[in-house]
Amino acid sequence: MDSILNDLIKEAKKAQAHAHAPYSDHPVGVALLTNDGTIHSGCNVENAAYPLGNCAEPGAIADMVKKGHRYIRMLVVVGPATSLCTPCGGCRQRIREFGNDHTHIYVCDVKGNIMLSTTLGALLPHSFGPENIDETKKLAEIRKLSNE
Ligand SMILES: [Zn+2]
Repeated sequence: MDSILNDLIKEAKKAQAHAHAPYSDHPVGVALLTNDGTIHSGCNVENAAYPLGNCAEPGAIADMVKKGHRYIRMLVVVGPATSLCTPCGGCRQRIREFGNDHTHIYVCDVKGNIMLSTTLGALLPHSFGPENIDETKKLAEIRKLSNE
């Protein structure tokens, strides 16, 4: 597992080197591991129209999805400094779409040193995910049947 983690950190650092962050000067790289062992990565891409910029996580997720994968087992974020660069609130939800409470998340400093080892469940407790939609559908069916 340690070598996989090291590979993820290496890939996140490579992605970070390609970040387009001229406005914030806050380049971020992300690498994620799918359940079949493949690694996908992304970097943040800012825009002169600031709200249109993207975090690194959506790039890594798009890379994963376009290659046919739908499950994030582990994810590494490499930030530009020694302060914690945890996934933002929106990205926690993006990760949740393809992960669960047990999805492991590592946050690394600019040198790739692990600063935080946590889970998505800890970062986004009581989260809303695809199963909640299914439950809503089931609930709607039960209500429909009970009204008939
Ligand atoms: Zn984000």
